[in-house]
Amino acid sequence: MCHPDLQSTEVVLGSQHSAVSRRGLLTLAGVATATALFSEVVPGLAHAAALTQAQRDALTPNDVITMMKAGNERFRLGKESPHDYLAQQKAGAKGQYPAAMILSCIDSRAPAETIMDLGIGDCFNARVAGNVVNDDILGSMEFACKLAGAKLVLVMGHTACGAIKGAIDNAQLGNLTALLAKIRPAVEATRYQGERTAKNYEFVDAVARKNVELTMAEIRRRSPVLSELETSGGIKIVGAMYDLETARLEFLG
Ligand SMILES: [Zn+2]
Repeated sequence: MCHPDLQSTEVVLGSQHSAVSRRGLLTLAGVATATALFSEVVPGLAHAAALTQAQRDALTPNDVITMMKAGNERFRLGKESPHDYLAQQKAGAKGQYPAAMILSCIDSRAPAETIMDLGIGDCFNARVAGNVVNDDILGSMEFACKLAGAKLVLVMGHTACGAIKGAIDNAQLGNLTALLAKIRPAVEATRYQGERTAKNYEFVDAVARKNVELTMAEIRRRSPVLSELETSGGIKIVGAMYDLETARLEFLG
C-alpha cells in the first residue's frame, strides 16, 4: 500500500525518526492514518491499531495538521488507509488518546473523520449545524484538550452550507431560529460587493469562511482554558473549509 502523500509527512516528521526506513513505513498495512504516522516517531509501536498515549503525546499541533492534510489528500485520491476498524475498536476499548478536537457541521456530505481518512480513536468530533459554539461545546473542547490531551482544535466549515444559507435568509423554524442567530454575526461581518443572498454560492461560502474565523475567535474569547493552552503552545486553534465539489480541505491562515 503506497501513499504518495506520506512523503510530505516525512518532511515534517523526518527529524524525529532516523531508524525507520521509508520502505518500512510504507509496508505497514491495516493501520490507521495516525498510527502510520506515529510508527515513524515510535517504531516499537508500529503495529498498534489505535493511538497510544505515547504516540499521541509525541505529536506537536503542527504534526496533527500535517496528518489531517495528508489524510485529506489520500481521501481525494481515493487512496484511503486500509482501516481495520475492529482492531482500532479493540485497541481503544481501555482508553483513548485522540490527537484532535474537531468542531464541524452536521452536513451528511462533510464527515470530518472520513474526509481526513482518520480512524477510531484519532479525534473527538462535535457536530452542530453551522459549526457554532455554545457553552456545552466549549466544555467539550476543554475536556478534549485539557483533560484528554488533544493537541489541536479544528473548526471545519464547508461550502454550500445549509445553515449558512438559512442564516442569510433569516430562516425561522422552532429551535433552529436561535441556532441560526449565532451565525448572523458572520453574515453581517462578511465583506462582499456582489449579491448578498443565499442563492449566490460565492457569498454563502464567504460567510461560511467568516463564520469559521469568528467561531475560532469566540473559542479564544470564551474559553480561557483553551486560550491559555494555545498561548503556552500546548494546542493550536485552527480553521478549515471543506469543499463539497472538490473534496479538498483548505486550512485557513
Ligand atoms: Zn453545513
